[in-house]
Amino acid sequence: MKDRDIKSFTRKELEDALLARGEKAFRAVQIYSWMHERLASGFDEMTNISKSLREALEEEYDYTNLEIVEIQRSKLDGTCKYLFRLADGNMIESVLMRYHHGNSVCISSQAGCRMGCRFCASTIGGLVRNLEASEMLDQIYRIQRDTGERVSNVVVMGTGEPLDNYENLLRFIRILSGEHGLHISQRNITVSTCGIAPRIRQLADEDLAITLALSLHAATQEKREELMPIARKYGLSEVLEACAYYFEKTGRRLTFEYSLVGGVNDRPEDARRLAALAKPIHSHINLIPVNPVTERKYVQPDKKVIGNFKKELEKYGINVTIRREMGRDIDGACGQLRRRYLEKSEQGGGDEC
Ligand code: SAH
Repeated sequence: MKDRDIKSFTRKELEDALLARGEKAFRAVQIYSWMHERLASGFDEMTNISKSLREALEEEYDYTNLEIVEIQRSKLDGTCKYLFRLADGNMIESVLMRYHHGNSVCISSQAGCRMGCRFCASTIGGLVRNLEASEMLDQIYRIQRDTGERVSNVVVMGTGEPLDNYENLLRFIRILSGEHGLHISQRNITVSTCGIAPRIRQLADEDLAITLALSLHAATQEKREELMPIARKYGLSEVLEACAYYFEKTGRRLTFEYSLVGGVNDRPEDARRLAALAKPIHSHINLIPVNPVTERKYVQPDKKVIGNFKKELEKYGINVTIRREMGRDIDGACGQLRRRYLEKSEQGGGDEC
């Protein structure tokens, strides 16, 4: 299947494939542009390509074109959640957030997830499969086409663990930031990981300028294990050393994400420990008041507790923000739209969407 997925081809691979069929190299330039700049939804839109070649390509290749199943629009801030159907029937979701500095899209990197973080809805049904590079790209392409507005920032923070789908992630980043695609600056691409230490090191060596966000969520090994099973495999110190290496190699400041869970990791003492961990690494802390998930028992701390936690970190000179909640009215935590849909289908009511 993989070598048929034409939208995951790099420009060079596309050129090689077309030369091998006796076509001229400039055809690859045209077709690549149709796919990645003009965001064509199929070969039939490629009007400067002969009908016979279009038909031959149609025969030979799969053309990823995600189907929009549902869009939830926030009345508060223009945030939109998209539910997409993949060619094999799997569902994924993406979020468009409109900021004053531009539009940002949060994409999924896998259908489901196998990391098992306790507070996360995306992991409840386990991992179904990795997404192809084309399926990650097309979430952005469909949203840009649907809104007619340019996407300037991409965060890989939707369902899935991007570093668990490493090869496809890299291909995705290179196509997305390449000058013949949407050409989104790597500085405007953020990849969030639960902390697969060897992959963080590998990523540091790829010569990319993307931002890495680490989901920290706890400042001790014990508490982190409680919230994130993956922490048993890659301990806190190993992960932080990998982050320090990432900064050393790329010069890119890291983001530490810390989901604040009421009564679990929100005490002043937790803040002090967190400050001590973050201080030696050039970083920024993003506090995320936990999004309650129907299936989970976790709750957000009081506003006052959140404010105090931030102040405590600032006392130690830590750069910290509280994540602005976008699309409150359509929300539910990450992965909940997909979950809701899956539940409905399990009950036999899924086709009404
Ligand atoms: N697997 C990657 C990216 C996906 S999750 C990672 O772990 O980083 C994106 C961020 O949202 C992570 O920091 C994750 O821990 C956080 N998150 C997931 N569910 C959440 C919830 N219910 N409330 C708050 N943050 C959540």
